[in-house]
Amino acid sequence: MTARTAEHVDAIVVGARCAGSAAGAAFAGAGRRVVVLDRAGFPSDTISTHLLWPGGVAELQALGALERVAALGAPPLPRGLGGAGDLTVCGDYTPVDGIGHALCVRRPGLDAALVATARAAGAEVRERCHVTDLIHAGGRVAGVRYRDADDRECELRAPLVVGADGRRSTVARLAGAERPYRARASGRACFYAYWEDGRPQWRATAAQWRAGPELGTAFPCDGGLALVLLQPPQSRAAQLRRDPARGYAQTVAAIPGLAARLDGCRQASKVRSATGLVSYFRRSAGPGWALAGDAGHFKDPVTAQGIRDALRYGRRLAQVAAPVLEDPGALDAALRAWERERECDCLEIYQWTNLLARGEPMSPLELELYRMAQADPQLARRMLDVFSRTARPSDVLTARRAARVAARALRRRGNDRMVTATRAAQDLATAVRDWRERRPIRAARAAR
Ligand SMILES: Cc1cc2nc3c(=O)[nH]c(=O)nc-3n(C[C@H](O)[C@H](O)[C@H](O)COP(=O)(O)OP(=O)(O)OC[C@H]3O[C@@H](n4cnc5c(N)ncnc54)[C@H](O)[C@@H]3O)c2cc1C
Repeated sequence: MTARTAEHVDAIVVGARCAGSAAGAAFAGAGRRVVVLDRAGFPSDTISTHLLWPGGVAELQALGALERVAALGAPPLPRGLGGAGDLTVCGDYTPVDGIGHALCVRRPGLDAALVATARAAGAEVRERCHVTDLIHAGGRVAGVRYRDADDRECELRAPLVVGADGRRSTVARLAGAERPYRARASGRACFYAYWEDGRPQWRATAAQWRAGPELGTAFPCDGGLALVLLQPPQSRAAQLRRDPARGYAQTVAAIPGLAARLDGCRQASKVRSATGLVSYFRRSAGPGWALAGDAGHFKDPVTAQGIRDALRYGRRLAQVAAPVLEDPGALDAALRAWERERECDCLEIYQWTNLLARGEPMSPLELELYRMAQADPQLARRMLDVFSRTARPSDVLTARRAARVAARALRRRGNDRMVTATRAAQDLATAVRDWRERRPIRAARAAR
């Protein structure tokens, strides 16, 4: 290995998938010389399913990547469906920037399209380059050391290093920000596979079913396939991992709505898994460094928000940092403001994701909300808008609606009143705790 002389650029981004390509494209779009480094070569897969709600598709559009992604051939999904026992909530979405459909695009194609978008915007993306260290100067991060595709030791210097290098972020570790300041272990595991989709009537619908503690989804994607993700309780993960093919098939069969959806379809891939997931916020801004995408903030896949947030806040980070890269004080202030913006926008959906990731059967109150939404298309749309991020969970479960839901659940014949009242009290306690956690963050943002 031979050392090369250090190069100087305006910004360095470590990681070239969702957050990294978004940041790279936005830095380049602002006229900055940006180098994006990734140890992977593209196209390449990664352990992740890949549903984008309309809000996420709108982020592709904002980045200039939508045309490339749409060309991969995934069917638009203008309908969402949630099933639980004999209840079915079905609806459409409030359009976001004119986009009213979800998309589910396999990661090799999606990520390669993002890399191509960053390059087309003017970013230099270097593949098979593995970042191993941060360079410090004057109390600030001032660059990176990496090994390139020919195993040469290289140095690259810039006033800002963005870690967009995923959950096991090297940049977070080297910046001393690896330990989250807010975290919650998921109660669910992920097991997914692709199916040849023989059901044309389902090709416009992103669907999820609940059955007891089980949760399964079917999302039509590119290649004529459907992505079928199961999220059993984490307590069953070890059992499923011992024999994933069998455990996966048994779990599909245990979710009647999903099994019926897959009737006539054939499993076309092996089962892939992710277990022991933890959702978190990490400190994401410091002198000369920032953490975008999963490197700084992660949510359990149960609400499918990660790609959208990685795209959005990768782009936003570059937009706020690009004008002030030469002024360390202004840069640090811009990075802190960006971090607060992301936390403020994402905390409520993070809390709600943690509720859905509990790995428990639906509560009598959740079922009552489904019952109301089944009969009320506007409420169904509002519920779907929470996934798409045009509504907040508290817009749907207002205090008034929560009281109605609880009263109806308590009155419903067949519900154990004691169990229902206990769950209602638990849900109320969680809602109050979550509201208290959000309040100072919202207040601080409003004060600026
Ligand atoms: C099982 C599962 C299912 C999911 N399903 C969905 C879903 O349906 N919808 C959704 O929106 N989100 C989903 N997510 C979340 C989504 O995968 C992430 O939020 C998203 O990939 C984050 O993008 P990112 O760019 O931050 O990181 P990543 O996609 O993890 O990319 C990080 C990149 O950094 C590179 N890298 C890492 N270390 C280094 C280094 N030292 N040097 C150079 N390069 C490096 C890696 O090679 C990689 O290419 C899911 C996640 C999981 C685990």
